[in-house]
Order: sequence, then structure tokens, then C-alpha cells
Amino acid sequence: GHAVRKINFGAGPAQLPLEVLESVQAEFLDFNGTGTNIMELSHRSTAFAKVIEDAEQDIRDILSIPDSYAVLFFQGGATGQFSAVPLHFLNLKPSQTADYLVTGYWSEKAAKEAEKFGKVNWVIPKGSKYQDVPDEDTWKLTEDPSYFYYCSNETIHGIELIDVPAIVPKHVPIICDMSSNFLTRPFDVTKYAVVFSSAQKNFGISGLTLVILRKDLIEKTCNKSIPTILDYKIHIDNGSMYNTPPTFSIYITNKMFNWIKQQGGLKAMNELSHKKSSRIYEIIDQSNGFYINSINKKYRSRTNIPFRIVTNGLPNEKLETLFLKQASQLNMIELKGHRAVGGIRVSLYNGITLEQTNILIDFMRTFQTNNN
Ligand code: PLP
Repeated sequence: GHAVRKINFGAGPAQLPLEVLESVQAEFLDFNGTGTNIMELSHRSTAFAKVIEDAEQDIRDILSIPDSYAVLFFQGGATGQFSAVPLHFLNLKPSQTADYLVTGYWSEKAAKEAEKFGKVNWVIPKGSKYQDVPDEDTWKLTEDPSYFYYCSNETIHGIELIDVPAIVPKHVPIICDMSSNFLTRPFDVTKYAVVFSSAQKNFGISGLTLVILRKDLIEKTCNKSIPTILDYKIHIDNGSMYNTPPTFSIYITNKMFNWIKQQGGLKAMNELSHKKSSRIYEIIDQSNGFYINSINKKYRSRTNIPFRIVTNGLPNEKLETLFLKQASQLNMIELKGHRAVGGIRVSLYNGITLEQTNILIDFMRTFQTNNN
């Protein structure tokens, strides 16, 4: 028999749309008349070639990616890109310095990784709480940095930067980790030199990291000792198949891109993300301080919403534990906050439906009534 399907509000790997899972199930023993599962096929087979070509075309359509950009299917996670980016570009300009805007756990990790390879300028002083972003006019930017790096959505702290910071001059290559809000809203690819995102949150399963990269930058790279597995040029020249790619992950992502298109593309994802998150923030803000999210409203993330349950002015861990327990009895799982911030975290990636969000909202209301 089947267990009841849970509602997974975790930060990733995340819940996939039911339609995608059912389509995978239907093809599980026989993919397109091959008599095999796609995961059993050679990455050089015609059947797989079609999958990866479709996936590339779909993401080019979804984001209107121009031909001057490469779309690469990488392994090594977004974490791999924390190394690949500085290895390629840290010494792109005579300043031999990269500017890193550190707004939370993940951009901090990226900055520290880059420091292994060269000079990193921290645009704002190292924070500890990461609940706000200091005003741009206080930022310390390098005169002509090799690149400017930021993370568009801090998965743990719940800070989202909707656009490229206006203060960064147009000629500076912008590099962005979009792992936790990629494909939840439209953005202009041409503003960026490199965008990367691992798949397991908004468009697939773990094992695959998508890299979108301005091709001309590669010609300017002077580092000849980049490990082959991280070398953008090698991946471009080999159509992301220099070695065996994560075939099953790419197959799932192909289905996710299809699903996103069917839903109405990024316009639909944007509306869904807005609706889901604004309802959760509404409950938090109308709770008279029972639920508290401490992020500056300007930067509140739509995909990761951390909050505390507060009584007598203090976070109440006992109530938070009870919240998690009762939520889980209602089949809502993975709501525990990251240990770095504690409390509760609601992740609302593309695979979470409005109906599921409403179930959580009803529970949050009831829980407050019963425990305030
Ligand atoms: N960047 C962000 C914003 C993330 O949320 C994560 C993982 O949760 C990572 C990077 C690391 O991704 P991966 O585990 O795919 O290396």
C-alpha cells in the first residue's frame, strides 16, 4: 500500500510536483520504448541526448537566454561553484580582487572558499545575525574588481535580494548564487556574468547544478591549472558531457522545466511564490508577536521563511517543539529551523502548492489560538 504523501516544507532536497513524480513512475520500467529506465542508458545514447538537448532548450526559452551564454549541467553542487568561480575569475582584472557581498551563511561560505585562491574584499563587515543588509552607500567596493559576487537568496537566514545591487557599476561582472530562488521569479540573465543553482530546491533533485555563463569571459581566463572537472571551457566544448553527467538528475530537471512551462512559465511561478509567501508573512505579522520573523521587510525571502514562536518576549523552544510535533501529525514535515537560527523555517519552493500552504496557515492559526 501507499503511505500518505507528506507535505515537505524542507529547505532541500524538496518536494516535487505530483505530476512530475507520476510521469517518472509511468516511464520507470520503459522510457520511450527503450525497454530501460533512462538511468540505465548510456549518456551517449540518442534517447539521453534528446533529454539533455530538450532541457537546455527549455531553460533557454524559460529565461530567454541569448546564444552568447552557455548553459552547463554540472556536478559538485552549488558548493562546487564556490571554488570554480574564483578559480576562473579571481584574477580577471589587474586588481586581482573579487568583491563579495556577504549577507548570510551561504555567501559567507563562498567568500571563505574564494579566499583560498586569492584576494577577497568583503563589501560589508562580517555580520553574525544576518537579519538586514546595510545601506549601499556604506558598502566598500573595489575600484575595478574582477567580479562582484552575491547570493540572491540566503536559504538559512531568509534574506532575498531581488535585483542586482544598483551601486555596482555596469562593467563589473556579476556572479550570483541563485540556488534557493532560481525559477521562482523572472530575472534578466544579461545582467549577469555567471548564475548558478543546484537543482534540488526549485527544479529537480540533487546531483545537478545548472550554470549559466557569459561565454566571452572564458576567453579571458588566465588560470591554466583549473581542475578539469571544474573547467568551464571543457564543459562548454563537450556539451556538459566531458565525463558521465548525472543523467537521472538531468532527466528530472527536463521534466521540471516542462512542468514550469506548462504552469505558465516564470510569470506563473512568480505569482505562486508571491501568493504563498505573502500569506505566511501575513499570519506572522498579524499574530501580535506570537510568530516573529526578524528580517528587514525589504529583504524578506519568499522561498525560505524563518520564524520564532515567542511568549513573554522570549523564543519558546518548548512551544516550537510542540509546533513541529503537531505539524508532523498533520503530515507537514521538515519545518525545523536551521540550527544556526533555531525556531521554525518554512521553505516554499516551486513544488509546494497553494493548497498545501493554506493547510500550514490553518494550522498556524489554530496553534496560536491553542497556545497563546
Ligand atoms: N547556496 C545556497 C543558497 C544553498 O541554499 C545551498 C544549499 O542548501 C548551497 C549553496 C549548497 O548547495 P549544494 O548542497 O548543492 O552544494
